[in-house]
Amino acid sequence: MAADGGVRFSLLHRTCKLVVLLCLLHITVTVFFYVCSLDIRFSFVQKQLSKNESSAPANRVRDKHVTSGTQPKVVEVKKELVPQEQNRDQTRPPEELEKCPETSPLLVGPLRVEFNSPVDLDQVRQQNPDLRLGGRFRPRDCVALTKVAIIIPFRKREEHLKFWLYYLHPILQRQQLDYGVYVINQDGDRVFNRAKLLNVGYLEALKEDDYDCFVFSDVDLIPMDDRNTYRCFSQPRHLSVSMDKFGFRLPYNQYFGGVSSMSKEQYLKINGFPNNYWGWGGEDDDIYNRLSSKGMSISRPSAEVGKCRMIRHNRDKQNDPNPQRFNRIAHTRDTMHTDGINSLSYRVLKTEKLDLFTKITVDVGKP
Ligand code: BGC
Repeated sequence: MAADGGVRFSLLHRTCKLVVLLCLLHITVTVFFYVCSLDIRFSFVQKQLSKNESSAPANRVRDKHVTSGTQPKVVEVKKELVPQEQNRDQTRPPEELEKCPETSPLLVGPLRVEFNSPVDLDQVRQQNPDLRLGGRFRPRDCVALTKVAIIIPFRKREEHLKFWLYYLHPILQRQQLDYGVYVINQDGDRVFNRAKLLNVGYLEALKEDDYDCFVFSDVDLIPMDDRNTYRCFSQPRHLSVSMDKFGFRLPYNQYFGGVSSMSKEQYLKINGFPNNYWGWGGEDDDIYNRLSSKGMSISRPSAEVGKCRMIRHNRDKQNDPNPQRFNRIAHTRDTMHTDGINSLSYRVLKTEKLDLFTKITVDVGKP
């Protein structure tokens, strides 16, 4: 009996072992095929990407930024052609083109934005073949409704600028804007003056083209949704309304910092921006005061569409909080008619027309 029981036990034992082995084999084979299929899917998407790159960037539909190796990669899926694209006739002269629609059909909505891997500008150049020298673009298929100058106040933030160019150029093209990018670089190491640089950008851009709209953007702010159109509205627009830095909400109702836009008319109505805010803070509050004193209100996208990410960084040298800002903000109404675009003085030291932007280096003086 005991021998019989022993035989049965060892048979059971061997069967169990076999079952466990089969299970392990099954898991191994499943994992193997899953990994292979991932590989295949990834290379398929990459092929799609290179195909899309050789066609117009307007074909891009979904930007998913996937970290791989050292480069952030744009993984894109080609969408079905919209009628406008099907009708593309590159031989048609610009005067025969129709106006672009109010809302671009090329928008895709939310975007993934990350800053983990450095950007290679050669890659950005390749991904934006329709850009013209100086960072200029206009849609091929239609006449843009507006001509936008994008002004970026700048000093020693090359890495941030690369991210900005990498993310923004494709977005602005999908928004079907006729635009130019102007990086206004403050020369030297004296105290930074953001608002004055924005005034310089306004004037310098107008020397180049008849822009009717101006977007003023910090170099470290990237929109997370391409429906947040970088254009002007019937009221001055605040675009960076829900920043990750502030928990995706406005820090206060009057906040007008980060990214904003104004038509030429709106800008001139407030005599441009103050020139005497040296160092960090207050100039955006002064601009808000100017606008409200002229009876204008602030237009904003929804908190969802207005989401944006800020590239984390330490405070810049020579840009400490300006202790005079509170006093200045309290007197905007008294000072705005004599301090602004009508009193601006600066010296252009160098203008560089680069592939992805125009860089204007200026001496803005000192406090
Ligand atoms: C400053 C602004 C700044 C805001 C948010 C305010 O106290 O005056 O210039 O944009 O804080 O950081």
